[in-house]
Amino acid sequence: MSARPLQIRFVSSASRTHQLPESDREVAFVGRSNVGKSSLINALANQRQLARVSNTPGRTQLINLFEHVGGGTIVDLPGYGYAKVPGHVRKDWGAMIEGYLLEREELEMVFVLVDGPIGPTPLDQQMLDWLRDNEVPHTVVATKMDKVKSAKRRTRKSELAAGCMLETGDIVWVSSAKNVNIDQLRGLVLGHLSGTS
Ligand code: GDP
Repeated sequence: MSARPLQIRFVSSASRTHQLPESDREVAFVGRSNVGKSSLINALANQRQLARVSNTPGRTQLINLFEHVGGGTIVDLPGYGYAKVPGHVRKDWGAMIEGYLLEREELEMVFVLVDGPIGPTPLDQQMLDWLRDNEVPHTVVATKMDKVKSAKRRTRKSELAAGCMLETGDIVWVSSAKNVNIDQLRGLVLGHLSGTS
């Protein structure tokens, strides 16, 4: 495991897969809006403003690429299920995310973020079903662990895992706010980016 922050910097945004620059190895982060994706990417890099936290759709509608200094790319996919956008925009997002996940050959692992206190939502379950059906390698990360009271943690972990059709131990529980298991996730990300996992 690496205790050091991931050294990553923002490279570019794209609205279509074919606009993305080449990379050697890639990991992607996906999840519904407000799941804590920007906070998690910032925590992994130990930077406050790398990915934008809690903004209205803008940069979040795009595929954002971050270059890892030691090699490889971290991809921040647009959050799904943003309630305030019209249906056709949501459809375009879906097409863009699907296009990326199916076509990107460099993609080693998709980290699917699920809200720890409330997940998985039906949209998360749809995403997981779709990833399984299409055999896209993925790992579920449960966010905001600090918001689950310690007395309820065991039950919540089992519920969330069952909702994802996984075992409790398959899921990485993190808190960006309290820096819980961020190191463990960094280790996983680095393993995929370096090809050692
Ligand atoms: P995104 O839309 O998925 O990029 O989510 P954000 O990173 O913008 O986070 C959404 C909201 O959840 C913000 O108000 C964050 O401060 C909050 N949040 C994110 N991560 C955590 C966490 O680990 N613990 C707590 N308590 N709140 C968090």
